[in-house]
Amino acid sequence: MNLETQYKKFYKIIQTLPEGPLFSKLEINPTELCNRRCSFCPRGQGYPNKNEHISLEVIDKIYKDLKELNYKGLIEICGSGEPLLSKNLLPLVKKLSKFNLLITSNGDRLTTDKILELNNNGVNYFIVSMYDGEEQISEFKEKFLKAKIDENRFWLRKSWYEHTHFNNRAGSVEEFQKKLATQPCNILHYQLDVTINGNVEFCCHTAWKNNYYHGNILSSSLKEIWYGKKMQSYRKLLEKGRKHTPCKSCSVGGTRYGQEFVEKWNELSN
Ligand code: SF4
Ligand code: SF4
Repeated sequence: MNLETQYKKFYKIIQTLPEGPLFSKLEINPTELCNRRCSFCPRGQGYPNKNEHISLEVIDKIYKDLKELNYKGLIEICGSGEPLLSKNLLPLVKKLSKFNLLITSNGDRLTTDKILELNNNGVNYFIVSMYDGEEQISEFKEKFLKAKIDENRFWLRKSWYEHTHFNNRAGSVEEFQKKLATQPCNILHYQLDVTINGNVEFCCHTAWKNNYYHGNILSSSLKEIWYGKKMQSYRKLLEKGRKHTPCKSCSVGGTRYGQEFVEKWNELSN
């Protein structure tokens, strides 16, 4: 099974607690630095490049909370910067090596040695978002094969302009502002996003706004935030559409995954 197919497994319910289905995807943003300024990204529209990195305290707390949950879902290290620029990437990977760990990178710093180092310290899966073009496919394939990584453990994602359906990142990219979406959005039903200082983002697309959070894991647990009143009330609102902030200025589709979660949450609340 290739990684693209395996990845979709993590949009399904994997664990259910008495309170409801647990998130099956946890995204962690390890740095606020990126070496690129892609035009379709908030970084291409003035989002600041900051030399800030996930703290060891936040890494320890993520580990503690996931261990208590006996977490079986996916952890994706990605976020609003380039993960390979995080000074604490290796401590993060080592600490979370017992979980299903995936790293998504723009590939610019991804040498064969770096792939080997990440693999040897616990990264199970790799995604490379290729932004330049077709010629990158053979370049990255060679690196992964040299590192003896099976083809079902890496995904070379064709992300150059014409291959990607871009969105406005909850209102942060002007170029894509015109097509705002009004339909429900399922993202809060299945995914949780933690950033460098322990804040739990409203969703993966609001990371660029810096002012919409569900809580902070240094003062609450992942479990308390996930099943808390705040997230529950937003889930309900999002089942009806996007009349509230920050969702009313968002063009993300939001319904490709997660229907199974929506039904389960509804079943439990009735
Ligand atoms: S899309 Fe990714 S690589 Fe490009 S500027 Fe944004 S964070 Fe950096
Ligand atoms: S509608 Fe947009 S901002 Fe709201 S949860 Fe979905 S993706 Fe995030």
